[in-house]
Amino acid sequence: MRLERSISAFSRARRIIAGGVNSPVRAFKAVGGSPVFMKAGSGSILRDVDDHEYIDYVLSWGPLILGHAHPSVIKAIQNAAGRGISFGTPTEAESQLGELVCAFVPSIERVRFVSSGTEATMSAVRLARAYTGRDKIVKFAGCYHGHGDGFLVAAGSGALTNGVPDSPGIPLGVANDTLVLPFNDEGALREVFAREGERIAAVIVEPYPGNMGFILPREGYLRELREVTARFGSLLIFDEVMTGFRVAPGGAQEREGIVPDLTTLGKVLGGGMPVGAFGGRWEIMSKLSPDGPVYQAGTLSGNPLAMASGIATLRILQDRSVYERLETTTRNLCVGLREVFEHHSIPHFMTQRGSMLCTFFTSEPVVDLQTALRSDVTLYARYFHGMLDRGVYLAPSQFEAGFVSTAHTQADVEHTVAAADVTLASLFSTVR
Ligand code: PMP
Repeated sequence: MRLERSISAFSRARRIIAGGVNSPVRAFKAVGGSPVFMKAGSGSILRDVDDHEYIDYVLSWGPLILGHAHPSVIKAIQNAAGRGISFGTPTEAESQLGELVCAFVPSIERVRFVSSGTEATMSAVRLARAYTGRDKIVKFAGCYHGHGDGFLVAAGSGALTNGVPDSPGIPLGVANDTLVLPFNDEGALREVFAREGERIAAVIVEPYPGNMGFILPREGYLRELREVTARFGSLLIFDEVMTGFRVAPGGAQEREGIVPDLTTLGKVLGGGMPVGAFGGRWEIMSKLSPDGPVYQAGTLSGNPLAMASGIATLRILQDRSVYERLETTTRNLCVGLREVFEHHSIPHFMTQRGSMLCTFFTSEPVVDLQTALRSDVTLYARYFHGMLDRGVYLAPSQFEAGFVSTAHTQADVEHTVAAADVTLASLFSTVR
């Protein structure tokens, strides 16, 4: 496949933008080759600058649950833009989106909007520290909570992809307040609480980790997290930036029946515009400035265009049958892919919940970072490029989740499964 224009666009970008990209994983370091520059998207399809089309399973890394350029979302943004782009005052749209958030996610009694998932998690942790009067936080190896200093310890996503889990530039003191545990390990959890429980402000967790591939919690594990944090007076923060409004209207907490103290949101919440949010129990949220002493602010927080996009998106998602359709499409995709991997005798472990999925190229169950890292990343890179050549855009790393939108059709699923079949057939004819 000729990607001339993408290649020259990347050389131009490298001269002016650090590393040629504004977020590291976009640079294709984990799969090799030059990143594909996109110029348009419609429904399930992305179009690159060389005019190739791809069925998109990245969806801007999760936000586009309705697909690219959904007419209702575009119209809402256009209407809002016509009335003014930013006011720096409260607007009614913020309360409108806030009411939707609280209706979708009942554990959220009060919410605050920010402009990214990173801001949401940073602010939630500050609030948890202030509320408990404690400093330490617990996170899980391979979970990613944005690029706040205290989170870049054994982090997933781009940090993992680039093999630099601990970034330089983070003061030792900050890193020391982050305790890292393996996900899905109840023993390690109990041990750290027995040792440090009185000093732990919060446990922050992606209830379905989606930044080391896509991993599911063992039965009872999230309940154990809830119980141990409650027992020690630590807060439980569910980072649902990825899973919120995605795996169910109320996120993973709805599916699992767990009530966290605080929740962080992003991605789908903004329908593709820069929006994040954090929220939870009223009594905790009341500590935030201006009601309380915990400072948090943002020039563009609650931006009218972003609110309009979020409102239009969530209104469509109020129809629960949307989630049934998403689940069916995603399940069909998984069934089709599994048959192909089995047919070609490829060791694989597949995970799926709602419209999120992942194929790990390993024969062992993947339950944490350690088992995820046993995946064959060389095979993944080849598979990725084979699929790209056949018009399927997958995440450019083994350690990312895949996403399906309401715009994906059964024909898209069939094309994807057929592309996987041809890709693996061609890979194995060259390997042997
Ligand atoms: N938390 C989770 C679970 C995420 O997946 C991400 C982004 N992938 C973030 C936080 C950070 O969000 P943002 O990139 O919008 O800062």
